[in-house]
Amino acid sequence: MIACLGRIVHDSDDDVSTVFKSLNLQGTVENGDFSGIASKDFGGLNSVKPLYLIKPSGAEDIARVVKAAARTPHLTVAARGNGHSINGQAMSDGGYVVDMRSTAENHFKLVTVNGSPCIDVSGGALWEDVLTRCVSRYGLAPRSWTDYLSLTVGGTLSNAGVSGQAFRYGPQTSNVTELEVVTGKGEIAVCSETQNPELFFGALGGLGQFGIITRARVKLQQAPDMVRWIRVVYSEFEEFTRDAEFLVSQKEGESFDYVEGFVFCNNDDPANGWPSVQLNPDQEFNPSHLPQTAGSVLYCLEVAYHYRNSDDPSTVDTAVSRLLGRLRFVERLISTVDVSYVEFLLRVKRAEEHAKANGVWDIPHPWLNLFVSKSDIVDFDRTVFKKMLKDGIGGPILIYPLLRSKWDSRTSVALPEGEIFYIVGLLRFVPKGPSVDKKVAENREIVNWCTKEGWDFKLYLPHYRSKEDWKRHFGNQWTRFAKRKASFDPKAILAPGQRIFKRGT
Ligand code: FAD
Repeated sequence: MIACLGRIVHDSDDDVSTVFKSLNLQGTVENGDFSGIASKDFGGLNSVKPLYLIKPSGAEDIARVVKAAARTPHLTVAARGNGHSINGQAMSDGGYVVDMRSTAENHFKLVTVNGSPCIDVSGGALWEDVLTRCVSRYGLAPRSWTDYLSLTVGGTLSNAGVSGQAFRYGPQTSNVTELEVVTGKGEIAVCSETQNPELFFGALGGLGQFGIITRARVKLQQAPDMVRWIRVVYSEFEEFTRDAEFLVSQKEGESFDYVEGFVFCNNDDPANGWPSVQLNPDQEFNPSHLPQTAGSVLYCLEVAYHYRNSDDPSTVDTAVSRLLGRLRFVERLISTVDVSYVEFLLRVKRAEEHAKANGVWDIPHPWLNLFVSKSDIVDFDRTVFKKMLKDGIGGPILIYPLLRSKWDSRTSVALPEGEIFYIVGLLRFVPKGPSVDKKVAENREIVNWCTKEGWDFKLYLPHYRSKEDWKRHFGNQWTRFAKRKASFDPKAILAPGQRIFKRGT
C-alpha cells in the first residue's frame, strides 16, 4: 500500500513533503502534533512536537525515512518503541518519529543457533507478546527480562534490559546473537558478534545512537510451568545485602532463579509501607516480629524458584527451604505465593491495570535509575534511603545486586567498576503540580551527592543535557562511543531525544 501521502501537508515545510512523496513508503505518515503519541512518554515531564509521525511497514521504509532526513540539513529521526522513557528520549523536536509498534508483527521465527533455540522478533514487538507466543507455541521463553513487559525489544536492547534474572544470564543485551539494524546512513545491516561486530555491540545499550533495531535474535530456554514467589524482610541493610550477594554468587541450580529487592517504610502506608510486601492476602505483615532495633526503613528480598508441574511438590519444598535456610531475614516475616511462570513475568501488568483503574498510572514519573558499586552501597543506604528518602517516594524503591562479569564490555552500556554493583530504581508516581519539579530536584540532589562523595556509580537509562556530562558518563568508553557514532550515524540523525550529539550536515 502506498503511504497516505495526501495527509503529508505541513505549512512551513513543503519541501520536506516533496521529499516524502518521492519515497514511496509502504507504511503511513501523519502530521506531528502535541496531542499524539509521538509527543508523549511515560515520564510525562517533556513534550515536543515532531514534524511527522511515520508508521513504517518495515526496515525498507525506515531506511528511506533516514535517507530523506539525511538529505536535509536539520531533520532528525527518533525511533519510538513503546514510549516508556522518562525524559523524552524517544522524541524528535521538529523531526520524524518512527513508530516501531507498526512493525511488531514483521518477524516471529524460531531458529537454532549452535544447537540452541532462538527467536527472531521485530524490534517493535512488545516483550509481553514475545513471552506469551514463545511459551504457548514452543514451551520456550527468553532467559533475561525486564520487570515490566509492555516495552519493545528495540527499546530495552538500546538500554540494557534488567530484572531479577540478570545476575545469572546478564541483561537482555547479553542474550541476543544477531540484530538487523537501519543505520544513520539509511543502510540495512545484519550484525552479530562475528559480522559487523562494532555495529552489533554498539547498538546494544547504544541509546539508539547507531541504528534502529528492526530485528533481534533472542536466546531461548525451556519455560518452567510454575514459580514460587517469595518475599522476606530485613531490618538491617548489611544483612539484606549479604544474603542478596550470596544468592547472586551461587552457581546455577544452587540458588533462586530470580533475585530482586526493595526498600520500604516501617509503617502501615499502603504504597510505601508494610502492605507493599504482601504477596498473599492471607499472610498479613505482622510488625511485632520486627526487632526493637528496626529503623524507619526496611528491606525486602524478593526471590523466585522455577519448577515444572511434573516436579514432586516435596522436592520443590525441600529445595526452597534449603535456600531460605541460608538466609537471615526477620523470622516469620515471609510472604509466599505459587503462580504460573507467565503470570509471574506479567506481574507488573496486573499492577498497571490496578493503577490505571485508580487513575495513578498516567501521572508524571520523575524516575531515577542508578547502578551503584557494592563498595559504596552501604554509604548510599545511609544517606539516601535512611535520610533523603526515609518517608518513601510514592512508588517502589528497587535495589538488587548484579554481576559485571555477566555483561559484555563490548556493548555501549556504561557500568561502575567492580564485580558486584546494585541497580537502584526510584520509581516515583507524582501527581501533576509543583511537587513534580521538587522530585526532579531531589533526583538531581541524589546524583550530585553521589558525585560529590566520589562514589562509583552510573546512571541507568541516563539523561544528561550537556555533552560534557555524557563524556563523564561514558568515561574511558567515550572515544569508542564517539567513533561508533562517526561510523554509523555521522550526521547525528538518530535518537536526538538522548541529547548526546547535535545534528550535523
Ligand atoms: P522508548 O522509550 O520508546 O525508546 C527508548 C530509547 O530507545 C529512545 O531513545 C528511542 O529512540 C530508542 N529506541 C526505541 N526503539 C528502538 C529501536 N528499535 N532501535 C533503536 N533504538 C530504539 N528497564 C529495565 O531494564 N528493567 C525494568 O524492569 C524496567 N521496568 C520498567 C517499567 C516501567 C513501568 C517503565 C516505564 C520502564 C521500565 N524500564 C525498565 C525502562 C525501559 O527499559 C526503558 O525505558 C525502555 O527504553 C523502554 O522501552 P520502549 O520500548 O518504551 O522505548
